[in-house]
Amino acid sequence: MSATRDICELYTIHLNVVIEKLKLLNPRRVLLHAPDGLKPLYNCVDRALSEFKLEVYYSSEPAYGSCDIPVEEATEAGVDVVLHIGHEEYTLIERVEDRKITVLYIPVYYNVKLSESLLSDLYGKLLELGVMRVTVSSTLIETPQRVDVANYLKEKGLEVLVSPTPILGCYYGPLLVFDNDVDAHVVVSGGIFHPLGLGLSSRKPILVVDPYSQRVWSAREEADRVLKKRFYVILKARELIGGRLGLIIGGRPGQYRYALIDYLRRLAEARGFKAFMITSSYTSLERLVSIDNALGLDMYVVTSCPRLPIDDLSEFYKPVLTPGEFIVLVNGGEKYIYPW
Ligand code: SF4
Repeated sequence: MSATRDICELYTIHLNVVIEKLKLLNPRRVLLHAPDGLKPLYNCVDRALSEFKLEVYYSSEPAYGSCDIPVEEATEAGVDVVLHIGHEEYTLIERVEDRKITVLYIPVYYNVKLSESLLSDLYGKLLELGVMRVTVSSTLIETPQRVDVANYLKEKGLEVLVSPTPILGCYYGPLLVFDNDVDAHVVVSGGIFHPLGLGLSSRKPILVVDPYSQRVWSAREEADRVLKKRFYVILKARELIGGRLGLIIGGRPGQYRYALIDYLRRLAEARGFKAFMITSSYTSLERLVSIDNALGLDMYVVTSCPRLPIDDLSEFYKPVLTPGEFIVLVNGGEKYIYPW
């Protein structure tokens, strides 16, 4: 069995709806776009598109979320349809514009079953914490495992509240409505990214079921460590209130948040800041150094992706805040706000 075949079998790729839409749209050229970890699925989707007479282009750009569709690149390449693999349309999109390019989303689900010992380990850890009511959530890809975890815990007698929509690194709203009613949250996820976002939004215990490494672990400690670090950055920024502020504006369709930018700008100016509007398709440490060398501002707020200040830019030599952290800075208060 080839490596390509292997990866196609590890995931269920829901192509039916997209195929029907492509028949209606009859595009001449499509661009495949996926997060790096799912780019090997280009081969699987490619095969399914062979019934169409179209030219397929392959994007090498990262895809940190469905907020991050490379529309400029697709426009320059003369593409009619972007086929984005692995996410649904971005929930928090502010700009719904009349675009020439159609973006179609191809849902993908991870197929691997969770082992009985993993589920029993999770149940044991919840019992140790005295948990009776719990939420269970996941991203779109781990939906099958999320359903299995929820059913298992229900059979064990726990009260389980399931998020009706997948979580994102900046979106935990459907879980947080239950936050006061549950004893803990269970997140089905590979890696720290999604559990950490929940740990910044809720103070409850967070247990992670990782279907890729088949292990259960607690994300609470890491989230608390990051929270301490973020409060330290906010503290450092206090002495700079009223200074020169860089408001970083995202260039990708889902990351251009004009209502948020407008709100933060007015808030900043009311507190005596001089706000500089800085555009950036993707804000890296290198981009920040470059603009800081040019403008020499006192601090920055990233409005595109609230994870950038936390995950990628925390080592920058000046405070780089999320929108929520900036609100805490200027309004005061002890409660951490994530993401805005
Ligand atoms: S966390 Fe960042 S990359 Fe992920 S969906 Fe939100 S804005 Fe996009």
